[in-house]
Amino acid sequence: MAISKKEVQVTLEEYVCDECNQGVLRLDDCADILQSNPKQYLHHCSNPECESEDVYFTYILPVLVYKEQKFMRADVLRSTASGVSVSTGNK
Ligand SMILES: [Zn+2]
Repeated sequence: MAISKKEVQVTLEEYVCDECNQGVLRLDDCADILQSNPKQYLHHCSNPECESEDVYFTYILPVLVYKEQKFMRADVLRSTASGVSVSTGNK
């Protein structure tokens, strides 16, 4: 199976934290995934000094938007597919 590649222009969609207005929401890769339909992923603010509450999102941030469709990181989806918490261990 051949892989065909072409360069496209995508937009990176970030959610800025309401609390500190500095950090952006990032997946907490140690947190459980809510096995709802659709699944929900726990995110927290990337600013270490921020004490905002964690938030669930139905997709993994940041997302890439191409032709009005959202794309998520495949590596994260794979590691979370079973619903078992996976820690990368290099925090
Ligand atoms: Zn924050």
